Amino acid sequence: MKRAPDAACLYCQHPEDTAEHTIFDCAYWDPLRLPVKMFVGNRNITTGDVQDLLCGPSDVPFSENDRIRAASKRATQSFYDMVDNILSCKEHDERIAETERKANAVAAAPTD
Ligand SMILES: [Zn+2]
Repeated sequence: MKRAPDAACLYCQHPEDTAEHTIFDCAYWDPLRLPVKMFVGNRNITTGDVQDLLCGPSDVPFSENDRIRAASKRATQSFYDMVDNILSCKEHDERIAETERKANAVAAAPTD
């Protein structure tokens, strides 16, 4: 994300609007995290979950392999979709905010 490192979050005014804040912490995006929460026991997703979400659990009994692999694929897709949704919505909002900033700058400019 191309943002100044000191920019505050557009949605919750958290002082550091980092990718980690956006994907895992910002309350504004909670509804988009719901489908992924299902795969981690209905709790908040953390950076520590990413490896399991992308690669599947490491200790799977051989007899459970196919079932776990299918669930793991769904978890991975769900995580990709969540990240994609959050970042697309955020980019959209940032473009609107930028347009408004420019419009306000034009409106505030002295006109001789
Ligand atoms: Zn936030």
